[in-house]
Amino acid sequence: MARRQFGSQLKFETELLVGCQRLQRTADGLGNVLNAVIRQFEFEAEITKVLRCSDLMHGCDYVARADSEDELMQKAAQHGREKHGMQRVPPEVAQKIKSKIRDE
Ligand SMILES: [Zn+2]
Repeated sequence: MARRQFGSQLKFETELLVGCQRLQRTADGLGNVLNAVIRQFEFEAEITKVLRCSDLMHGCDYVARADSEDELMQKAAQHGREKHGMQRVPPEVAQKIKSKIRDE
């Protein structure tokens, strides 16, 4: 093998190595970003708002779960309408419902 060829081959390999390391760092960086995003999603997904109707209405086994309090209140209002004949949720009842919401 000629020296010149060997030299250029070495240079090429060095460049390839540097390129790979750079790529690896970029991938690591991306991985960290992705992990952070995934953690964020997992954190948000972990918190579920739960409302047990039995805390408000004795003997009702309805349990509502939602990602947000607003969504849960909508479900509670719907359930109240369908199962308990409550056409609307007065503010004092809404207050009471909110006080029974738990994080799961
Ligand atoms: Zn109920």
